[in-house]
Amino acid sequence: MSTQTYKGSCHCHAVAFTVDLDLDGALQCNCSICSRLGAVWAFAPKAKMTLASGADALGDYQFGKKHLHHRHCTKCGIETFAEGTMPDGTPTVGINLRCLEGVEVDKLTPKQHDGRSV
Ligand SMILES: [Zn+2]
Repeated sequence: MSTQTYKGSCHCHAVAFTVDLDLDGALQCNCSICSRLGAVWAFAPKAKMTLASGADALGDYQFGKKHLHHRHCTKCGIETFAEGTMPDGTPTVGINLRCLEGVEVDKLTPKQHDGRSV
């Protein structure tokens, strides 16, 4: 696969965005929040994501070491993406692939990340 532009949104569509992603980098994680969400993630520099709407609807949830901002819609509750910073300082977004149009998440083979042990 290669980098493509995808459209994503929360359930109520208050939060909508486009993002350039390579789904070869898809990842599933067993940490306390990912296991509850059931999310499959892919990552991109934050500069590759454009928020079309919903800046005012985005909540911000943090836990543990608070490296990540889990961004959920305050109306419908769906976490469409999370924000963080790579070790080299690049602002990065993790996209919940289940919120994208035209992506069949169950046909992907995400890497398993042992976030629970980190
Ligand atoms: Zn929503």
